[in-house]
Amino acid sequence: MNPDVIIVGSGFGGSVHACRLATAGWSVLVLERGRRWGPQDYPRSPDDAWIYDIDEPEKQNGWLDLRIFDDMWVATGAGVGGGSLIYANVSIDAKPEMLNTGWTSQINAKVLAPYYDRVADMLKPEKLPDNQLTPRFELMREAAQKTGAEDRFRKVDLAVSFDPDGHYPSTRPPSEAAQKTFTNAFGRTQGYCTHAGNCDIGCKAQAKNSLDLNYLAVAEDAGAEIRPLSVVSHIVPEGNGYAVVYHDISDGSRVERVVRAPKVILAAGSLGSTEILFRSRDHFKTLPDVSAALGFSWSSNGDFLTPAFYKDRVLSPSIGPTITAAIDYLDGSDDGAQYFVEDGGFPDVLSNAVRAAKTRSQRFSLRARILSRVASVLSDGDPLETMMPWFGQSIDGGDGRLYWGRDWLRPWKKRLKLDWNSARSERGVGGLINAHKRLSSAMGGRASVPPTWGVFRNLVTPHPLGGCKLGAAPSSGVVDHFGEVFGYQGLFVSDGAIFPRPIGLNPSKTIAALAERSAEAMLQTH
Ligand SMILES: Cc1cc2nc3c(=O)[nH]c(=O)nc-3n(C[C@H](O)[C@H](O)[C@H](O)COP(=O)(O)OP(=O)(O)OC[C@H]3O[C@@H](n4cnc5c(N)ncnc54)[C@H](O)[C@@H]3O)c2cc1C
Ligand code: SF4
Repeated sequence: MNPDVIIVGSGFGGSVHACRLATAGWSVLVLERGRRWGPQDYPRSPDDAWIYDIDEPEKQNGWLDLRIFDDMWVATGAGVGGGSLIYANVSIDAKPEMLNTGWTSQINAKVLAPYYDRVADMLKPEKLPDNQLTPRFELMREAAQKTGAEDRFRKVDLAVSFDPDGHYPSTRPPSEAAQKTFTNAFGRTQGYCTHAGNCDIGCKAQAKNSLDLNYLAVAEDAGAEIRPLSVVSHIVPEGNGYAVVYHDISDGSRVERVVRAPKVILAAGSLGSTEILFRSRDHFKTLPDVSAALGFSWSSNGDFLTPAFYKDRVLSPSIGPTITAAIDYLDGSDDGAQYFVEDGGFPDVLSNAVRAAKTRSQRFSLRARILSRVASVLSDGDPLETMMPWFGQSIDGGDGRLYWGRDWLRPWKKRLKLDWNSARSERGVGGLINAHKRLSSAMGGRASVPPTWGVFRNLVTPHPLGGCKLGAAPSSGVVDHFGEVFGYQGLFVSDGAIFPRPIGLNPSKTIAALAERSAEAMLQTH
């Protein structure tokens, strides 16, 4: 029997829909391109499944999908739980002023407030406890004080479970295994944060409140079916609903399958949902009326990382939660630049890999390219232990354009491409970089802006936004304010793709809040 709804992708948009619709009694099928990961299989050693290869997912369907566009690299997660598996757990609301322009009149901070509350009820965010402050947190707080920004400094909410009796670890490396466990509000076993610093590569302590442990757990308990290793290709209208064509890659080959439902929700992320609509509209021509706005107003959310080195200060960027605090300049008071500074961190296995990459000469594999890029960003010869990876987001130009273009290596084939020019992003990104330099030198550190920006104006973003932006009409948007695709009743987009502009801070909670609102409307009206 056909399900009531097919959801494509199990990240922040998809999980919220799966949970709310399944608990309301709908039969729900979730198609997810990645694996179902468990603590025992998170990647750790060089030969583990790190890479998700979109050209050959049946051969490589690992942790990270890294798209290398001209002048922009985009990192996203793959697996049941989507970006929540790989993310740094920062779970915060957009600033009200970021919702005042660019969005349709129905969306603003007051409207979203109850939906943010619902997300918080599920993700249970906490702040880093005072008895567990990390050296990076302390450095950032002192730097804020020294630069007159103490009022802008704050801890950020993290979707992490902290033990109130916990402490910053005295042993190095900290244990990855939880010392204490508990049953969460959704019946799943979790542990408390051990400060293992592996937030971006899967938390073996299960201290991250990732979507598989809350929204998706509730959805599955209510009967939702999640089908991992199911890569959706395109959508075909059929009768009063849609056929979803996907490739089952679970046995190492590609087997085409078709499933049908009256409603389909694309929640494959900014790149994934935009790609599926492009393929449907321009390649298979099954959704010919999708708006001409498809692909426009794409944003990198102005992300930037500046490593800074301190002579006499041990900062251990591989210990403790990846991000813990922020210095908020989104009000534009720094000469119009709007940005949000955060501390950063990276897993120890990454620092080991970077060290190895500096001594080995493998030049041609994708892994070698990634590692040498990371090496160029993270290290210029100083010990990593005294390095602070200053991170943050900013209001970029929001003027990228995703399009369906020719693949230069295989000219017979078309693929998702990105047209990106840094010109209109210079103010925001430049402001963020200047803040990184200012904060570094206030504490006697030396900021090292990677040549990838300084010379080439290349960016790397983990926060892709837009591609299927919402709008008041098909002339200005691809979907309406509930995410329904103009011209295609019952077909929705619910993920970061619907953002019409950057928000300058971590977006996952806003994606989930918009999905809560969309799911509620779906239950009321259909
Ligand atoms: C290293 C890193 C750290 C981050 N840290 C933070 C943070 O601290 N706070 C924050 O707010 N954000 C953070 N982000 C960003 C955050 O992860 C994303 O903004 C968020 O996950 C986007 O949600 P989404 O629902 O749009 O898509 P996703 O969460 O990316 O979900 C999309 C899902 O669709 C699946 N999919 C894609 N294509 C297909 C297809 N064709 N068929 C089937 N399934 C498909 C994907 O595998 C994925 O599971 C981070 C990202 C990275 C990479
Ligand atoms: S610091 Fe370690 S234990 Fe804590 S949430 Fe991150 S990965 Fe889990």
